[in-house]
Amino acid sequence: MRPTLPWAMLLAAIALPAAAEPVLLENARVFDGTRDLGITPVLIDGARIVHVGNPLPAAATGARRIDYHGKTLLPGLVSDHAHVGNTDGLEHGDRYYTRDNVVRDLRQFQRYGVTTVTALGMNGHDFFAIRREVNADPKLGAQLYGAGGGIGAVDGAPPAAAMGLQRDAVARPRNAEEARAAVASQQADGVDLIKLWVDNLGGKVPMMPAEIYRAAIAEAHARGLKVAAHIRDLDQARDLVDARVDIIAHGIRDRAVDPMLVRKMREQGTGYIATVNIDEANYWYAENPQQLQTPFLRAALPSTVRERWEQPQWQSQQLAGAGIPGARKAVEMNLENLRRVYAGGVKLGFGTDSGAMPQRVIGFAEHRELKLLTEAGLSPARALQVATADAADLLGLADRGRIATGKRADLLVLDADPLADIENSRSIRVVWQAGQEVAGPITE
Ligand SMILES: [Zn+2]
Repeated sequence: MRPTLPWAMLLAAIALPAAAEPVLLENARVFDGTRDLGITPVLIDGARIVHVGNPLPAAATGARRIDYHGKTLLPGLVSDHAHVGNTDGLEHGDRYYTRDNVVRDLRQFQRYGVTTVTALGMNGHDFFAIRREVNADPKLGAQLYGAGGGIGAVDGAPPAAAMGLQRDAVARPRNAEEARAAVASQQADGVDLIKLWVDNLGGKVPMMPAEIYRAAIAEAHARGLKVAAHIRDLDQARDLVDARVDIIAHGIRDRAVDPMLVRKMREQGTGYIATVNIDEANYWYAENPQQLQTPFLRAALPSTVRERWEQPQWQSQQLAGAGIPGARKAVEMNLENLRRVYAGGVKLGFGTDSGAMPQRVIGFAEHRELKLLTEAGLSPARALQVATADAADLLGLADRGRIATGKRADLLVLDADPLADIENSRSIRVVWQAGQEVAGPITE
């Protein structure tokens, strides 16, 4: 059975607040999520795009006009893998999972142009109420979807101590029967998809047994839910694809992916989210301290984090860390495997794991990931497609990720052209969400 998501029903039930009058965005170059449309008008009415291109319909006559000459318009970015409410300054853990911290994170995503966020596990029990509240009000930040607590391994990933999980909302089934029950209970709670962790963290903790993840995947599919799996290594990715997992939620980082697996992923339509930034974040900030002076990064960092990272002693200690050579190797392997799966026609998704830890910087990480996608050989246009149209498709969100008639008016207006240089994705002028201007340029 082909999994379908309940989101379409959920979205239909949410009445989006309407803008007072139609708005005509003029003279901008439009990247519609898959291609460059050139200079093209976009008409918004209420929360939706109602027309793209010339000639304009009669409804455009009375519209409020906004001149975006010299600007580039993109769909709002969509993250398929992030976390919210898990950090506070230099700290992280589930004691920070409060409504206000989740809204704080969703607002930050939104300021950085990410208008849809999938919180892939480690959500507290308040997730469902918060999702309902924020998805009805664009002023509260990016639209939120997610996997609730997710399903992890007994005494394993996600590691409760390292992740600061004191009230551990992660289900940790001991056998296939409990795995099926965990999927049923999470569906009853209202998750948008199922998250699994299949990783022994380099042999430090027990791996989730195949019997358990296979049972969870089969149960999820029988219930019409998709499954995204955290992995690190090739063996687990291969067996999960064999078990028809829908989404590999991190890049394969121990060994090069083989053509057989690439072909199988393409044939089964498995989504692949590389999250290259996840390992790079462990050294990149210490290695590029000059970046801490740019408003685009400074504005994303809590003051405690900024002050710590500005210390030369912290920078040298961080770079001398025992895990850093491994992190660099993981980034190289991740980029190489991304090249291979991309060349092999595998469906890509977009995410960074931002928000899970303080160094996985919400908003900034997503723009860094766009750059990393181009380092794996994607053109800027293709990288932007991954982060918009493809990322929405991966999650079955048919109402977004594209600038087209009927889609949500979730838009990113840039001062400089990201198709010429992907780092121009940072030149944010305005963020629109559901037809409302919700954020402006990023300043400190
Ligand atoms: Zn994650």
